[in-house]
Amino acid sequence: MLKGIGVSSGVAIGKIKIIEDDRYAIEKKIVENETIELQRFSSALEASRKQIQKIHDKAMAEIGKDEAGIFEAHLMILEDEAYIKEIEKLIQDEKLNAEFAADKITGKYIEMFNGLDDAYLKERAADLKDVSTRIIRNILGITINDYNLKEEVIIAANDLTPSDTASLDKKYVLGFLTEEGGAASHSAIMARTLEIPAVVGVEGLLDSIRNNEFIILDGDTGDIISNPGVKQLEKYSNKKENLLKSKKIYSQYKDKETVTIDNKKVVLAANIGSPADLDTALNNGCEGIGLFRTELFYLERTSLPSEDEQFEVYKSLAEKMEDKPVIIRTLDVGGDKEIPYMDLPKEMNPFLGYRAIRLCLEREDIFLTQLKAILRASFYGNIKILFPMISSMEELMLAKEFVKKAEAALTEKGIPFNENIEAGIMIEVPSAALMSGLMAREADFFSIGTNDLIQYTSAVDRGNKKVSHLYTEFNPGVLMLIKQVIQNAHKEGIWVGMCGEAASNSRLVPLLLAMGLDEFSMNSANIPQIRCLINNMKYEDAKKLLDVLNYGYIEKIKDKLDQFIKDNCQIRSVGP
Ligand code: PEP
Ligand code: MG
Repeated sequence: MLKGIGVSSGVAIGKIKIIEDDRYAIEKKIVENETIELQRFSSALEASRKQIQKIHDKAMAEIGKDEAGIFEAHLMILEDEAYIKEIEKLIQDEKLNAEFAADKITGKYIEMFNGLDDAYLKERAADLKDVSTRIIRNILGITINDYNLKEEVIIAANDLTPSDTASLDKKYVLGFLTEEGGAASHSAIMARTLEIPAVVGVEGLLDSIRNNEFIILDGDTGDIISNPGVKQLEKYSNKKENLLKSKKIYSQYKDKETVTIDNKKVVLAANIGSPADLDTALNNGCEGIGLFRTELFYLERTSLPSEDEQFEVYKSLAEKMEDKPVIIRTLDVGGDKEIPYMDLPKEMNPFLGYRAIRLCLEREDIFLTQLKAILRASFYGNIKILFPMISSMEELMLAKEFVKKAEAALTEKGIPFNENIEAGIMIEVPSAALMSGLMAREADFFSIGTNDLIQYTSAVDRGNKKVSHLYTEFNPGVLMLIKQVIQNAHKEGIWVGMCGEAASNSRLVPLLLAMGLDEFSMNSANIPQIRCLINNMKYEDAKKLLDVLNYGYIEKIKDKLDQFIKDNCQIRSVGP
């Protein structure tokens, strides 16, 4: 059985259609007339612009604003002066043919992005590849594939670019399968938005399947079953039907408040990485932004963003969310998030090194600029500040001093801001969790970052496949810390949220609720399901779960939590 990474939930059953890469060969040629070459290049740019604009409009009408945004980024690549000029210069200076020059310069940038250990920038490399392939095809006069689908199929390909994905006629696409790609690839994101089951990263896919082969694809587990027997067909048809039924049920919870049967209210908020994610978050019924990871804003550029640029972004978020909270996390770079133009030193243990608040406290230029921008925007909505990676009281107090400094600078200039802005801290380092009783006297709220808290508590690198079986939020040591943090916060009268991935683990949610977690912040696609779960259980029942922490064994805890959902939730919704 073939297996890949399930990136878009659901089951697809049907015939395979393989989409071939219509490859082209690029020869290096010395040309006689570089003006003609420059002309070929500029006509190809113009043709590409028109094609991408068309795909953008189609995506806007058929998929959504966020996905159409990908093609706005593609259009911007076509307008990137540095990139275009570099290609033109190579044509002019070395009398090279246009397709070779375009391929060479693009290759250089792609290599640079791929060399960085950052999933987001690797995606930028994929965008650049998509656009440059189109430019080169246009230079060579190769017709761009329109995939002319006439019947329902499961698409299989080496990789699907975002423009391939948007060009396909959705009514005939039952599912996607690709040999390349990861969970964060744009095609995966689009598949999720279109609610088309998808599996990516399937090793050996194209060598193992044939056109018209009948298969089952499971977008949750990543399983691919060729020529299934009757029993398998029956099993997966039932699963497909049940998933569809559940989805329909979850969607009814999008716009409800989050409250248990016995009236315990909590807040379900969204994690976002850019303002472009906001519409999806609101459409999924978020009650606030629990985490805006501002680092992506710094990563997308070639120099630090100015105070005004940041202010505009934060202000537009605040205004769009009206009175709902928007928690802006100050810059969290370092670790696996590198910013090339910041020239950060290479470290043996980047996750234990110069990152997040440690860097900001030393770089007054960066930190004060960001804090001033956040404070200015706080005048226009319900903004809160969140400091990442706090590990000592000293850091917390210093960070607060920086806020005071930023406030004083604005006051001096007569610029308005919310003088009662809340400043909270991420609890993602065990020392902070252990000192949460003391820290709660100085912070206005906590947000538990389980992604890091798990790795630091269990000494398990969050990105290392070899030890991934040890990386779990169900480790009782991690759960004990979470419970302690919530208790300590409440004793001091502050509220606690969680913005790590664990907040949307449906199996864990009843236990978190029992511990008293006030806010759950997650990828917005999970909000309807988690709300459905909470709204169909009783807080008083969940409280009986608190003794699972004494079980000691991870599997025992998981079993008990599963049993709880089976016995106590009127509508069951258990994820992985
Ligand atoms: C976390 O550590 O849980 C968290 C939300 O932060 P990040 O994933 O950005 O490190
Ligand atoms: Mg973190």
